[in-house]
Amino acid sequence: MRIDLHTHSSVSDGTDAPADLVAKASSVGLDVIALTDHDTFDGLGAARRAGERVGVRVVGGLEMSAERAGASVHVLGYGCDPGDAALLEALARLRAGRDGRLPAMLARLAELGMPLSAEAVARHAGPAVSLGRPHVADAMVEAGYVADRTEAFDRWLAEDKPAYVTRYACPVPQAIDLIHAAGGVAVIAHPWGRGRRGTLPEDLLTRWVRDHGLDGVEVDHPDHDTATRADLRAWASRLGALTTGSSDHHGLGKTNNDLGCETTDEAVFDDLLARIDRRGGRP
Ligand code: AMP
Ligand code: ZN
Ligand code: FE
Ligand code: FE
Repeated sequence: MRIDLHTHSSVSDGTDAPADLVAKASSVGLDVIALTDHDTFDGLGAARRAGERVGVRVVGGLEMSAERAGASVHVLGYGCDPGDAALLEALARLRAGRDGRLPAMLARLAELGMPLSAEAVARHAGPAVSLGRPHVADAMVEAGYVADRTEAFDRWLAEDKPAYVTRYACPVPQAIDLIHAAGGVAVIAHPWGRGRRGTLPEDLLTRWVRDHGLDGVEVDHPDHDTATRADLRAWASRLGALTTGSSDHHGLGKTNNDLGCETTDEAVFDDLLARIDRRGGRP
């Protein structure tokens, strides 16, 4: 069984509509995908209906924008009740933070000699309910300021670059608690990718497992090299934490993240489903 538990649709910053993403999953031979859009469940209904048509199991998920000491941390939630009031309220606040930062980002870009209109960004966001830096990057590409999303992030939009503007994100323990209270399973996405290892050292991850019941970490992810995966897997095995593997597919928006390029073991998936079942979630 081939299982990819981290994918994005055009409801956030992926480029495939939810139904197209699921059709693509079928065509690359996946049996299970989780739709994990940023800070929203909006694509889930369409993805599930497509899954029934093409014979792909769609697990409900999301990728929550969290933070630790001001540094961004992504927390994947699986099997949450998508109608959970407390979780929906937290997601609305996160999306409001995304919208609210846009004027400041556009002002920063204009100061840097790269004026863009809010309309241009909105056009690239299209159907997205979660507005992200990738949509700004797409508008920068269209204006000819950069060649692609990667260059936009590397030169301007990444956390340590001149056009970065911070936004509200929820503390990691709170994200874990909200996911659990909604019946779900919490997994830290790409914990040691893109230089994050220093921000999220082992003792901190250990504390989140011991004190907050963090369920697991994403190990097999395109942003993790071989040595990183080995170290993270060794830590997880000492703690009894789940270790997932996933593509973090964004459609055409990210190279290196082909759907199904990384997958999760069936035994891990069974454990994840059992946890959702115990918590009364919606697998
Ligand atoms: P935001 O949601 O606005 O914080 O933007 C973060 C999103 O941008 C991530 O989820 C990725 O999809 C994308 N992203 C982050 N860093 C990079 C990068 N260096 N190159 C390309 N895309 C990136
Ligand atoms: Zn993304
Ligand atoms: Fe992420
Ligand atoms: Fe992601």
